[in-house]
Amino acid sequence: MTLGGTWNFSYVLSGVPVERLALCQATAYLAQNNIISSAKRHRILLLSDIVSETAMNEQPVARRRAVFFDRDGVINEDLGYVSQPEQFRFMPGAPDAIRWLNKHGWLAIVVTNQSGIGRGWYTEEDFLRLTRWIDQRLAELGAHLDATYYCPHHPTEAQGPYRIECQCRKPAPGMILRAIAEWNIDPARSLLIGNKQHDLLAAVAAGVRGLLFQGGNLLEFVVRACEEAAANDSALQV
Ligand SMILES: [Zn+2]
Repeated sequence: MTLGGTWNFSYVLSGVPVERLALCQATAYLAQNNIISSAKRHRILLLSDIVSETAMNEQPVARRRAVFFDRDGVINEDLGYVSQPEQFRFMPGAPDAIRWLNKHGWLAIVVTNQSGIGRGWYTEEDFLRLTRWIDQRLAELGAHLDATYYCPHHPTEAQGPYRIECQCRKPAPGMILRAIAEWNIDPARSLLIGNKQHDLLAAVAAGVRGLLFQGGNLLEFVVRACEEAAANDSALQV
């Protein structure tokens, strides 16, 4: 009996692929309630043993490292509440920096305060349209951002539902913490690059090392920062 057979059987049993542990639970339920014949029950219980054992032997997936970027002033020139493609200009070396991260196993993730949405200066749809446009420009250059997180809120200046004391507006770490959870990121081996104090405070609160970018070539900045981080890793392992 092969494990491959186990998988095929789980498809037959339920008609849809099931998680391995769910298969064990389903088997136990079917057996306890005499829904399946004894011959079949025996076979399924046997299979569930193999499945449980396999699940227990699995190693946890290694957490990934990421570079978190503030957007305006780091990825693109900060012209103040950029919301349209015509206002968007990449900082020197920005697409190259993102492509370098893509090729060297780092996640590249944007975390950006966008209170212009809450203030009513542009809409969430404007922001998402610009994000798609940026993604397309990067794709043409052989680079990609793994994710873009944004906060549309402001505690005092925003309108309607956007006017809240949220956990995502930097210096709060909500966007970074969410990305860490959703992308299985190791904060201690990750970096945040921002151009404002609130970026660095958010990084500290999330357990990520924050670096201040004050202009210049982003590729050079990123390569230096990541190589330094990798050297620190090696030093710790010696
Ligand atoms: Zn927010």
